[in-house]
Amino acid sequence: MSIRYARYGLLIIIIGLVLYSALGYGSRSFEAYCPFGGAESLWGLITAGEFSCALGPLNLSLLVALLALALLSKKSFCGWACPIGFLGEIFGRLGHGAVGERFRPGNRTNNVLKLLRYVVLVAFLFLTYRTGELILRGYDPFYLLCSGFGHGTLGIISYAVIAVLAVGALLIPMFFCRYLCPLGAVFDPFSRLGLIKIARDEAACTDCGNCYAACPYDIPVHTQPLVRDRDCTNCLECLDSCPEDQVLTLQARL
Ligand code: SF4
Ligand code: SF4
Repeated sequence: MSIRYARYGLLIIIIGLVLYSALGYGSRSFEAYCPFGGAESLWGLITAGEFSCALGPLNLSLLVALLALALLSKKSFCGWACPIGFLGEIFGRLGHGAVGERFRPGNRTNNVLKLLRYVVLVAFLFLTYRTGELILRGYDPFYLLCSGFGHGTLGIISYAVIAVLAVGALLIPMFFCRYLCPLGAVFDPFSRLGLIKIARDEAACTDCGNCYAACPYDIPVHTQPLVRDRDCTNCLECLDSCPEDQVLTLQARL
């Protein structure tokens, strides 16, 4: 639990900084700090020889830094720094608290739905290339919430997007991150290779399943000697929930 408080403390500081920019107090727009804007920037540079509107070198630098972080520590950005990931987790806890039980999609359904994030990634990049505009802002929860449904939003459609994501997250923790986040799709191959990961001492494990129950992504930690899953954010919820000493540890392993 103490690890969670440290993580939430960091996330609240980051959200405060983003809101500070979003309210117009910073020297740059909050969009300058969006790492997915880095993927759109890179795509714009490759395909059109220039940055897409509202994006620039800062987005690209941020993306490169976060890909390097994913190679070092999997999707730790998603668990320790992303405001949308934080909301997905909090809504998941609220939904679980209200119903008293957590809905877990079956393994096959979960894996098929995860393919949607690649569809979203391709659609975002293709439409950005075709129009030279960030025309999908109206579907982007980070943009919609930070801009207060500002310029480029799609009225009722944008509100419906946020409502669907909120209800989805109440039912399935990390709903957007699991199934729809294009940045998560960009991180995937880097995260799969991520050096620092959760290791489980199989001989000392009692198979209680607490780690599986605690994982916001439903990763079956209790069945794996090393958590290589591309969705692992190294949030350490599993490690915190394990009743045995030193059965789960964070290790640098290939
Ligand atoms: S496996 Fe553990 S560290 Fe990875 S996402 Fe699940 S709870 Fe977090
Ligand atoms: S919580 Fe610890 S003891 Fe229980 S299954 Fe997971 S690793 Fe094993």
